[in-house]
Amino acid sequence: MPDEIVQGGFLGNALDNSRITHMSILNQNPLPFFINGQYVSPTGRQTFENINPASGTLNFDVLEGNADDIDHAVNSARSALAGPWTNIDVDNRARLLHKVADLIDKHRDEFLAAEISDTGKPVQLAGHIDIPRGAANFRVFADVIKSQSDETFRMPTPDGGEAINLTVRKPKGVIAVICPWNLPLLLMTWKVAPALACGNTVVVKPSEETPATATLLGKIMNEAGIPPGVYNVVHGFGPDSTGEHLARHPDVDAVTFTGETKTGAAIMKSVADDIKDVSFELGGKNPGVIFADADFEQAVEGTSRSIFANCGQVCLSTERIYVERPIFDRFTEALAERASSLVRGDPFAEKTSMGPLISSVHRDKVLSYYRRATELGANVIVGGGAPEMPTPWQHGYWIEPTLWTGLDETSQIVKEEIFGPCCHIRPFDDIEEVVNLANDTEYGLAATLWTQDVKKANQVATRIDCGITWVNCWFLRDLRTPFGGAKKSGIGREGGEYSLEFYTELQNICLKV
Ligand code: NAD
Repeated sequence: MPDEIVQGGFLGNALDNSRITHMSILNQNPLPFFINGQYVSPTGRQTFENINPASGTLNFDVLEGNADDIDHAVNSARSALAGPWTNIDVDNRARLLHKVADLIDKHRDEFLAAEISDTGKPVQLAGHIDIPRGAANFRVFADVIKSQSDETFRMPTPDGGEAINLTVRKPKGVIAVICPWNLPLLLMTWKVAPALACGNTVVVKPSEETPATATLLGKIMNEAGIPPGVYNVVHGFGPDSTGEHLARHPDVDAVTFTGETKTGAAIMKSVADDIKDVSFELGGKNPGVIFADADFEQAVEGTSRSIFANCGQVCLSTERIYVERPIFDRFTEALAERASSLVRGDPFAEKTSMGPLISSVHRDKVLSYYRRATELGANVIVGGGAPEMPTPWQHGYWIEPTLWTGLDETSQIVKEEIFGPCCHIRPFDDIEEVVNLANDTEYGLAATLWTQDVKKANQVATRIDCGITWVNCWFLRDLRTPFGGAKKSGIGREGGEYSLEFYTELQNICLKV
């Protein structure tokens, strides 16, 4: 299943906010945890507000977990490992995961409404990418696990006999899944699906900004027949809250995390004493390289999507662009036109192509980079501020798509991940120069190249230090391929069979026969 489901031309049905009232579980205020197959709301817990980023209004309150709640969830996950889940054969496990996928499709409108109210992202994006990918993740890993077989190696023994070495994969145990807010269902299921396919149980800590779809998935797990305790969700924050309690819990066997690089470093410290295994998908400062021989229109369209999709809140977004000098002015102008044509407004309207940022805190951060760019002497080609929005969006966290030129490569704007709809554009003259520029970063997640010269594309792609290089496309990926980051963009690879390296423990049984 390709990642870029958006290319398929699927358009979601029109939705409106009233759909949210159809989700009984999201009507529970405060939003509960999902532990041992049940929605639970322990008394005496604090709550925090879930704000709709498009309108700035309150969606609902969310229960904040404490160490006892994490203990409860981890113990349930541990007990489930000793229950029927372990004895389900692979075919039946895969069948259950397909059922989860089918039920996500069946409840698509509920998931869409939940994701949109949490993030403010446009329905054309959530309907094309977030929700279909949530279902696709379960299908892909259900099929991957069914195609696995154990390896055997025969060897002679000193007494003239024979031994058979049997390599078996066992579930790792209880997996902590700590998630970000930018693609909530997509990124959570990208980890939950392989974890369950391999026979593990999970405790999920969704982002404090986006707790809805993870909670809703509990209902789906029950409906699909996944045993209680296999999938658990506890809400809360990171440091000194549920995130840290979960990572530190002695009965958690491994932690899979997607989020900021500095959070990855904090989690690494939390798990160090227990030597827990980690899989990290972290930040990026991804370069886009446009050669003069590129298909101009394709390069403009693809680059525009890679900067502005999801309001720039994608780890794979392009935040640095290098354009070969002969087409630099024309390309910059065309990209600015694209930026100006983006439509902000009702996330449920199909014409809306740009949502808000996730929170006021994040908008303040992105705006501080906008101000800094001006202080540093950048040419602001387009944008640079926060737009006035009409009622009822006037209190949402909207921001202008922004392009700069003229900054030094050593400036903060070109070095740090901003995670907003913005990009710095710079001209280059030759391959050697642009490879050095692209690699001059502490990150190594993704890169994008636009050229019609296949030889040049191959030459440059292999020299860029990153997990994925796209040539003449962006966000297109078969889910069986390895995904992850080089340098400070991550540890390990997930995707297809590569996920099995993290979600299973290999054992060699040497049998003298
Ligand atoms: P974040 O690191 O702030 O938070 C992610 C999660 O970690 C949240 O659930 C948070 O509560 C939790 N957390 C925070 N501190 C913690 C701690 N000390 N211990 C345990 N848990 C803790 O990230 P974010 O702002 O939610 O997401 C944006 C970041 O995610 C960006 O840097 C982006 O590049 C990155 N990202 C990477 C990928 C990838 O595949 N490489 C994908 C999406 C997002």
